[in-house]
Amino acid sequence: MISLNFELISISLKVVNERSISHSNKITQPSDRHDLTARVFKLKLRKLIDLITKCKIFGNVTSWVYSIEWQKRGLQHAHISIWLENKVHPDRIDNIISAEFPDPEKDPHLFDILKKNMIHGPCGKLNPFSVCIKDGQCKCNYPRKLLDVTRSDKNGYPLYRRRSTTNGGFQTAINVKWIVPYCPLISKIMNAHINVELCSSVVAVKYILKYIHKGSDQAMFSIENKNNNEIEEYQSGRYINSNEAIWRIFGFKIHDRYPNVQHLHVHLENGQRVYFSNDNVSKKVEKPPETTLTAFFNRLFRENVIILRYPKIFYMKQFAKKFNLRKQGIRYSHEIFQSDTLGRMYTIHPSNSECFFFLRILLHNVIGPMSFGYLKTVNGITYKSYREACQQLGLLKDDKHWGDALAEANETKKSSSIRSLFSIIFTSCNPSDPKSLWEKYKKTMNYTDEIFNETLIIIEDMCLIISGKNLNQWNNSFFSNRKYIKRFRNHS
Ligand SMILES: [Zn+2]
Repeated sequence: MISLNFELISISLKVVNERSISHSNKITQPSDRHDLTARVFKLKLRKLIDLITKCKIFGNVTSWVYSIEWQKRGLQHAHISIWLENKVHPDRIDNIISAEFPDPEKDPHLFDILKKNMIHGPCGKLNPFSVCIKDGQCKCNYPRKLLDVTRSDKNGYPLYRRRSTTNGGFQTAINVKWIVPYCPLISKIMNAHINVELCSSVVAVKYILKYIHKGSDQAMFSIENKNNNEIEEYQSGRYINSNEAIWRIFGFKIHDRYPNVQHLHVHLENGQRVYFSNDNVSKKVEKPPETTLTAFFNRLFRENVIILRYPKIFYMKQFAKKFNLRKQGIRYSHEIFQSDTLGRMYTIHPSNSECFFFLRILLHNVIGPMSFGYLKTVNGITYKSYREACQQLGLLKDDKHWGDALAEANETKKSSSIRSLFSIIFTSCNPSDPKSLWEKYKKTMNYTDEIFNETLIIIEDMCLIISGKNLNQWNNSFFSNRKYIKRFRNHS
């Protein structure tokens, strides 16, 4: 993966001044015309993306994503990440990314671009009040060390070659330690600040993806408002400068990516979100709105695929909520075209109600389902819950290791300790079949048949303390009977 940070430090408005603002005698600066800087930045960003994806200057690109942010004083910049089909081999890194000056006599144009755009700081002793200084140190680790060859640090971040003059580097007024890594070809074409970094380790990829998705800076403070107006609080906490405002007014994209991702809904039967008013409530009840999931069940074209593959062949009209065959793309079969669009569902934690989690597992695995009931049916038998259907399809791990833990505890622990252990396994470890575990080990948790229900209530109380949910909320086939225990206690 290659990460790029693109900023336009300076824009010339000479042509614009002559053509459209000549009637006013004032000299217009870029800072006076945020509409123009926004348009120029957008055009340059498009050109940069085209250079990478269409001209393939790094090779074939499988996917890319960018997000745009604004610095405190309004300078917009784009974080771009690209994934290449072929890995960049270590011996190729120096060909595409450099942290050294070119020969000022052979390539004065690039040298001037770098001098203007790609020098960090000065910071540290030269400028202790630089914005990059935190706790007396430069956040970006400048000035960097001189290196004879490019290599990786312990986290997989590349340390680029920065040769001294004695080792082949060029003598310039600026020390090579202050150069921000760049791609010579991109810098020459774009004449802008474009920091290029290679990300090859998992740590680096995770950091970069977190960084580009973190969103804009926000001020953090508390507002004491008795009305608790969430909209007002959200707006008060946002930091929007004039550059960002004009970008949003124009409706330019803050974020873009390839391939496209289609968000697919996951919900229980009749569990989709419905917005209604007093006037249309009965209409909404009679005919609940379609979602991507119900549209998939009701599809006319019966293609035997899982829902995640469906957006490759079909697109959904935003308002019609109906999947339609794609009319362009790569030919899949006669009259059917395929795109690169990916279908994705939100991640659901196993503790988030068994139905959602297990329904999502089934949607990922069952080919061509036609209804919610179809998902619960395995070999002609319709099961009560999605969990049971998952079990029958062998999609869940068995609970042998949890059984072993309870059996081992039985040899050394008291019943009360085993009940605590069972409660923790039940609430925190997501066993696939807790009812079977209970049936198998209930005798280790108490000693008479009559009071198993009371044991269940004790366990349920523990589960409520640990997770705030009772047994039935964790697993709908598993519940205690509190009415019975009252009768039992009264009679005993
Ligand atoms: Zn610094």
